[in-house]
Amino acid sequence: MTDRPRLTVLSGPSGVGKSTVVAHMRKEHPEVWLSVSATTRKPRPGEQHGVQYFFVSDEEMDKLIANGELLEWAEFAGNRYGTPRRAVMDRLDAGEPVLLEIDLQGARLVRESMPEAQLVFLAPPSWEELVRRLTGRGTEAPEVIERRLAAAKVELAAESEFDTTLVNTSVEDVARELLALMKVV
Ligand code: ADP
Ligand code: 5GP
Repeated sequence: MTDRPRLTVLSGPSGVGKSTVVAHMRKEHPEVWLSVSATTRKPRPGEQHGVQYFFVSDEEMDKLIANGELLEWAEFAGNRYGTPRRAVMDRLDAGEPVLLEIDLQGARLVRESMPEAQLVFLAPPSWEELVRRLTGRGTEAPEVIERRLAAAKVELAAESEFDTTLVNTSVEDVARELLALMKVV
């Protein structure tokens, strides 16, 4: 069944523009289903429980992991993040295109458990631009930005593990390319 939508994983360093690209894409194509992860991170201003994330306590995250409810999970810059398994499987079984926006460690875990998944890396036009975007977003304290930039160096070095790289110069272009890769348009 070559036409069955594959699971698509979008990864890339913090601040590269993953959320921006995905939001742009879903505005025009709401049929693209984006998995909502669970996280122990605190909400940023404007983030809502069940929309950007399910915001959970450490104890709740322990339970999700222990009960096998997560398809994958990872610790990133001091917080834990994981993909609820059931919702993803239901959508794939229904033949709907599914998108995960997760970190490098999560992408590797998905590759192991679901080798048919398509891994897409979102890269910044330059290191300086990545620093500018992460700092300019203004949502993280300086020490958190430092942690995220350290993680970004590791993520950038792993680009070749991905099936495809998209460079986020233009949000519109990248959103269009991602839709084409997902065979939505
Ligand atoms: P991520 O989800 O990868 O952590 P965000 O989507 O939050 O990143 O984007 C980080 C910052 O970069 C935001 O302020 C966003 O508006 C900005 N940004 C995203 N894409 C672009 C782009 N193509 N050009 C310029 N700024 C961008
Ligand atoms: P943020 O705190 O900026 O929302 O996300 C930090 C990092 O965690 C990003 O790289 C994001 O893609 C990743 N992330 C979000 N949800 C998940 C998840 O469910 N699993 C994994 N492994 N990473 C996630």
